[in-house]
Amino acid sequence: MTAFDYAPAPESASVVDIASSYGLFINGEFTDATSGESLKTINPATEENLAEVAVAGTEDVERAVRAARTAYERTWGPMPGPERSKYLFRIARLLAERSREFAVLEVLDNGKPIREARDMDIPMASAYFFYYAGWADKLDYAGRGANPRPHGVAGQVIPWNFPLLMLAWKIAPALAAGNTVVLKPAETTPLTALLFADLLQQADLPPGVVNIITGAGRTGADLIAHPDVDKVAFTGSTKVGKQIARQVAGTHKQATLELGGKAANIIFDDAPVDQAVEGIVNGIYFNAGQVCCAGSRLLVAESVADEVIDRLKARLGTLRVGDPMDKNTDVGAVNSAAQLSRITELANAGDAEGAVRWSAPGDLPEKGYWFPPTVFTEVSTAHRIAREEIFGPVLSVLTFRTPDEAIAKANNTPYGLSAGVWTEKGSRILAMADAIRSGVVWANTFNKFDPASPFGGYKESGYGREGGRHGLLPYLIEGGTQ
Ligand code: NDP
Repeated sequence: MTAFDYAPAPESASVVDIASSYGLFINGEFTDATSGESLKTINPATEENLAEVAVAGTEDVERAVRAARTAYERTWGPMPGPERSKYLFRIARLLAERSREFAVLEVLDNGKPIREARDMDIPMASAYFFYYAGWADKLDYAGRGANPRPHGVAGQVIPWNFPLLMLAWKIAPALAAGNTVVLKPAETTPLTALLFADLLQQADLPPGVVNIITGAGRTGADLIAHPDVDKVAFTGSTKVGKQIARQVAGTHKQATLELGGKAANIIFDDAPVDQAVEGIVNGIYFNAGQVCCAGSRLLVAESVADEVIDRLKARLGTLRVGDPMDKNTDVGAVNSAAQLSRITELANAGDAEGAVRWSAPGDLPEKGYWFPPTVFTEVSTAHRIAREEIFGPVLSVLTFRTPDEAIAKANNTPYGLSAGVWTEKGSRILAMADAIRSGVVWANTFNKFDPASPFGGYKESGYGREGGRHGLLPYLIEGGTQ
């Protein structure tokens, strides 16, 4: 099948003003870092420099945590739930109003297609604030007894794959529960968090309730280690998650960890093939596969495997890979040179171990970090590409003959974040959902999110839940009865 030729339809970057340099957002104001250090953030689709961003050192982390502690004790902690709720609603509304600005900035800093940032990241971020705004005055019903209490200061570290959305997943429930926040965005994607700081000023959020400190891994480690941080929330790699678990062990801090995944997307022989193919595409090529719950292992019934793979390849031939600012683009850039080299290294390991690589035809842009949508067949469960998180647009295909074999293969991983099941039979969906050891099992769909629905992992995918009532619980301490 050949792709139709579309004229370019680029979104304008003029809706957003990017400053040449940014300070830290502490106590309601932008301030210079005492460390005096900075880092550059670039557009991964073009390698152009976007801005210089301050790096928070130990003293800056100290200032941010102190501001959060003061705000917790003097303003946010004592504030009645209905009042906190009004601020959260205001943030949600402002995010919706300024959504185009946020979407464009997310695309420039992250490399994802504007279609995704515009239709998913930003509206979802706003929806999480709306959802948790509704909880702020109903905490007695959250499941921590009457009069539950917040922890105090939450230290939150987020990754680069959904920068603003992960910020919303972290900040909204923390504030609804009455905690104050110090948040560190990822080194390669700090800009929407800094624009969010500007939005907080617009919302008149009291100073110190949310502090945003940019920097690299060292800043995150300092924040997690700070003795006056009461609650830790982290999303990122399993390796760093394990370090954090060790760091907080034996302290008063409670941690929520959202880590990696190696999800099985399971196609039975009675699945509607065209819909399943769309689900496979959405599962692993959405955000160029840089998704913790990506459907990176395709388990397909042997009797329909050839048909599914043929139709999948035909569909991949129609995907448009390229300029993320173009509204026709389906697959954008990989977020960084480091991530591109990790993807390349693992894909090469797939070749070396005997799997068969197929990549969608088409030229990739010369500048920037790009990897074509790729499918590996002839994959065995022992291959690295079947075991390790690639975090890129690379699908590993395995086959199965019986439901038991599908379950055994799906669970044969150290991870347990998500899975997908495609079949016409409702009873089979329920049986598979019971047997698969992962936090989410999607049925005849994939990568669907809702603020009211909890999300999180088993095994090395982490612990604690985000979203829904369950996502409030880690931010609350059991209340005594009156
Ligand atoms: P990291 O886990 O290193 O980064 C996640 C966040 O943690 C970033 O803000 C990072 O800062 C920060 N950080 C790094 N080291 C520490 C530390 N010691 N203490 C506290 N915070 C720290 O992920 P990478 O960006 O290195 O990606 C590596 C791999 O991780 C990917 O290939 C992918 O497989 C997986 N990953 C999984 C994600 C998920 O959603 N589950 C998200 C991102 C990555 P900084 O960015 O400034 O270094």
